[in-house]
Amino acid sequence: MSLPRSDIFISGGGIAGLVAAAAFGHAGFSVVLADPTPAPDTPADTSADTGADLRSTAFLHPARALLDEIGLWQALAPLATPLDALRIVDTTGWPPEIAETRIFSAQELDQQSFGWNLPNWQTRAELLRFIRAQPGITFLPGVGFAGMLARTNAAIVSLSDGSRLGARLVIGADGRASPVREAAGIGVSTTRYGQKALAFTATHPLAHENISTEIYNRGGAFTTVPLPDQNGVPASAIVWMNPGPRAQALAALPEDQFDAEMTGRACALLGPMQRTGAVAVWPVITQRATRLTAERTALVAEAAHVLPPIGAQGLNTSLHDVAALYDLARAEPEALGAPAQLARYARLRERDIAMRARAIDLFNRICQSGEPAVQALRRAGLTSVHDIGPLRQSIMRAGLGSR
Ligand SMILES: Cc1cc2nc3c(=O)[nH]c(=O)nc-3n(C[C@H](O)[C@H](O)[C@H](O)COP(=O)(O)OP(=O)(O)OC[C@H]3O[C@@H](n4cnc5c(N)ncnc54)[C@H](O)[C@@H]3O)c2cc1C
Repeated sequence: MSLPRSDIFISGGGIAGLVAAAAFGHAGFSVVLADPTPAPDTPADTSADTGADLRSTAFLHPARALLDEIGLWQALAPLATPLDALRIVDTTGWPPEIAETRIFSAQELDQQSFGWNLPNWQTRAELLRFIRAQPGITFLPGVGFAGMLARTNAAIVSLSDGSRLGARLVIGADGRASPVREAAGIGVSTTRYGQKALAFTATHPLAHENISTEIYNRGGAFTTVPLPDQNGVPASAIVWMNPGPRAQALAALPEDQFDAEMTGRACALLGPMQRTGAVAVWPVITQRATRLTAERTALVAEAAHVLPPIGAQGLNTSLHDVAALYDLARAEPEALGAPAQLARYARLRERDIAMRARAIDLFNRICQSGEPAVQALRRAGLTSVHDIGPLRQSIMRAGLGSR
């Protein structure tokens, strides 16, 4: 009996897997995408649902370029809040007091904004709508990758519903515990910081003015990223890093106490803050796959690299992976998944991933430290990065990345 075949099988329908499916489908490849979670059909307000993805993602310019190219940005643009500037605030003591503030403006790089912030659950619902309209893409919600046998010309993939299919390329976009990575025998190196990130949304009386703010104190960064107003009140997505036990204790606080702690931690920069729904707790790690490819297999996004949530590097680095694979496949469609193409993919991505992982790791250690000497170093670093014009501009460009 002959197996159903597709050009590409994608394991994982997170944002990276969905964008990959949209890109390869747009380029004319046949794609099967499987994810064991059921698909949300409407971009409903899931802020009270603790199982929902409560993160938001800041898409930087190169990510937008890929989305523009495949015709996806049009659908996402109405959900997007522009990020016109990044404000860095260094604080001392507890409760935190502001020691230094610096603003990095996108206009300095001749850009209106650094990027655009979108809530993950809404982005995912729009991506699903887009994918379902593409005839070359088969989406299998509620079905997981179960195993694979890679051969020279194709891989045979087994799914959790007992079915099997053949594909010239298997893309592992199935997250930090990637089953494709495991099936391909690829290991990981993981660094733990003893930190957890709280992710949620909050309203505040003062306008955010499309400025994203990172406030440093011991334990890690507290980041606000602009969202559209909620019922006429300014709102932001918050990522708040803490030592693990403190993060768990904060997440368990009654709402009024949580709000008071949050407002203090934010130095009341946006006025008294109110959380507007559930809080998700994410372990903060740096993790890298020891290889990006195996026979007929490529890893992308968190299957390949997990970064602490600082500077909007996670998904943006992931979309660089997708864009690199997409460019290579379009340049040589007949060589899809062949060893030389996969080797080129690994060469193209390894250096950038390593560089970003090292920079974010170092930055997180410096931000996390309560040592007065390290805090002084952090403050000196911030002021010199900001106050020396050419250094400021090159750091901003490096943070944005380019395709
Ligand atoms: C608090 C927080 C805030 C962040 N903010 C930003 C930001 O502002 N900007 C940014 O660029 N990045 C940000 N990131 C990082 C970014 O969210 C991730 O890099 C990105 O979501 C990676 O997505 P992914 O698709 O690899 O993984 P996931 O979103 O985890 O998706 C993996 C998918 O694989 C599926 N899966 C699991 N098992 C199987 C299986 N057996 N078969 C098939 N599928 C399977 C899962 O169901 C899931 O849908 C943030 C991260 C955190 C923790």
